[in-house]
Amino acid sequence: LVSLRDVHKSFGKVEVLKGISFDVNQGEIICIIGPSGSGKSTILRCINGLVEINDGFIRVGDFFVHQLKSDREKIRLRRIVSMVFQQYNLFPHRTALENVMMAPIHVLKQNSKEVEEHAYQLLKKVRLQGKEKNYPAELSGGQQQRVAIARSLAMKPQVMLFDEVTAALDPETVKEVLVTIRELSEEGMTCLLVTHEMGFAREVADKIHFMDRGVILESEAPVEFFSNPKHERTKEFLSQVL
Ligand code: ATP
Ligand code: MG
Repeated sequence: LVSLRDVHKSFGKVEVLKGISFDVNQGEIICIIGPSGSGKSTILRCINGLVEINDGFIRVGDFFVHQLKSDREKIRLRRIVSMVFQQYNLFPHRTALENVMMAPIHVLKQNSKEVEEHAYQLLKKVRLQGKEKNYPAELSGGQQQRVAIARSLAMKPQVMLFDEVTAALDPETVKEVLVTIRELSEEGMTCLLVTHEMGFAREVADKIHFMDRGVILESEAPVEFFSNPKHERTKEFLSQVL
């Protein structure tokens, strides 16, 4: 469903991605881990067209992302591949329900009755039944992040990108967000996550990519990755985080 081949990206003179290649198949859950500044977020931003690559190839479904030029094409891409960020950026003066309804109504111009029904379903799916009419300030960080996930799902994407979505949360609320992502993957959603949650990566991922300084050093199934890391850099990283 997603393919990257030899993707290069520089900001000014600094090459941040130095030839990234991997595939994400339909229904897979893939985790990218690695030290700060290694280029993890940049990969996700390239995949949904927020950042233009300098060289290489990115395909998502039928879209050749590296060739998209107009904003209209990029908006069509983002209906297929939806990204959730660490800062969930909900509209503070809109209820949870309204936040979820906004994009389908304003971007997709869908019928508001159907959008509302779907939004109720999505909030139920992320276990926020009864919170539909609450404003973001009335919700915990984990609840707000789940509204943000529901908001992304409202576009009916085929792939979800998660960039450290639990990094800003209290430890108690991290788990409820991870449960939501796990349930999505169990329903067959294709998910690509940047995460520092090693327990989650170990339990749920189909594959883990370890990144360091713009390259993927290791790609393994979790059991192999954690029990038998090959690179010195990987061992060093794991010894710091585990
Ligand atoms: P972290 O774990 O801290 O989130 P990361 O692996 O996600 O790190 P990126 O955000 O992808 O790292 O950044 C990789 C490098 O690219 C960093 O050195 C960063 O400073 C640089 N960078 C990212 N975005 C830009 C930008 N828009 N302009 C210039 N430099 C950038
Ligand atoms: Mg990042």
